[in-house]
Amino acid sequence: MAGAAQPGSVNPSISGTIGSLRLFGVPVRFHFTFILLLVFVAVNTLGDRQSGASYALSVLGLFASVLLHELGHALVGRWYGIRTNEIVMFPIGGVSRLERPAKPFEELWIALAGPVVNLLIAFLLFGFLLYRNQIVGIKDLVDPTDANLLQRIAFGNLILAGFNLLPAFPMDGGRALRAILARFKSEDEATRIAAWAGRMLAISMGFYGLMAMQFMLVFVAFFVYLGAAQEGAAAMGRTLTHGIPVRRAMVTEFHTLPHGSSIRDAANLLLATSQQDFPVMHGTEVIGLLTRNALMRALATEGQDAYVSGAMEREFPVLAPDLDLAEALPLMAQAGSCALVMENEKLVGLLTSENLSEFLMLRRFGMEAAGVANS
Ligand code: ZN
Repeated sequence: MAGAAQPGSVNPSISGTIGSLRLFGVPVRFHFTFILLLVFVAVNTLGDRQSGASYALSVLGLFASVLLHELGHALVGRWYGIRTNEIVMFPIGGVSRLERPAKPFEELWIALAGPVVNLLIAFLLFGFLLYRNQIVGIKDLVDPTDANLLQRIAFGNLILAGFNLLPAFPMDGGRALRAILARFKSEDEATRIAAWAGRMLAISMGFYGLMAMQFMLVFVAFFVYLGAAQEGAAAMGRTLTHGIPVRRAMVTEFHTLPHGSSIRDAANLLLATSQQDFPVMHGTEVIGLLTRNALMRALATEGQDAYVSGAMEREFPVLAPDLDLAEALPLMAQAGSCALVMENEKLVGLLTSENLSEFLMLRRFGMEAAGVANS
């Protein structure tokens, strides 16, 4: 799969990853759910007639195929001048995080590059096997042996290519579909269709898996559904926010706390306003952010008379007012609290997930929300 581009000034990486290696300058990480797949495969292959070495080779072979698939995306991306920040390996494939969103025609070729790599691998392996006269029927592949190892890897690559070409998010085929649809329809609508196809595919796949007791399919369907929903939301957010500076969506009327305030003062402010996170100031300088969670924690452990400066977070997300809102989205998702909008070291606004979703809602209804109290 080619991943959703999540650009941003800080560019947080996908969380929950373990280990890391570097290929052609691209960091490769493994999502912890990848271990589930290895366990699943290990349990499923117990009692096979293949040797341990052949088993290890088949796992390694497929794993390398998935990596090469991702490198295919990365190389075509580089051709268009888009760097790949990292490749994260998930159980149903890898995800390449690109440095910036690709334009539709770029997206089409970047998406197709992955499955093309798998088709090439299959073609080369089958060619080699044909030359050696070692082609066997598909029926024989159900029974893994040392003799049909190469053939299984070749066939696995065909499945990888086929699966990834399904025209639905979050598969590469879904991205290609979106890129093609974007020629005839608005990008919004193209995204909606590809995400809808992904959800439908996941639901039918999961349903069939349950009926046929094919639990591997249910497992895959689950990830496809999550991916389709996430992809759809992210792409929708991007199209709604692209080209709009942070300052247009930020809250400009907000409360701050002087660093000498007590937890009681902060709790009163929390009750009196709809604000949840409060910048803590030393004069005009921001020295921390008191989040609602930190405030609750301090109330429980330190009591009402403690100072906010002891409870606040000293590291907080900061955005520039002219940053593209589309680039702020992934940072906001990562931060979980509000972000401070600072211009020349001066606090000019807050960006919270609530006002961001309100902003997105207004945009969806076609309201420009231009300069509502903050332009
Ligand atoms: Zn791919």
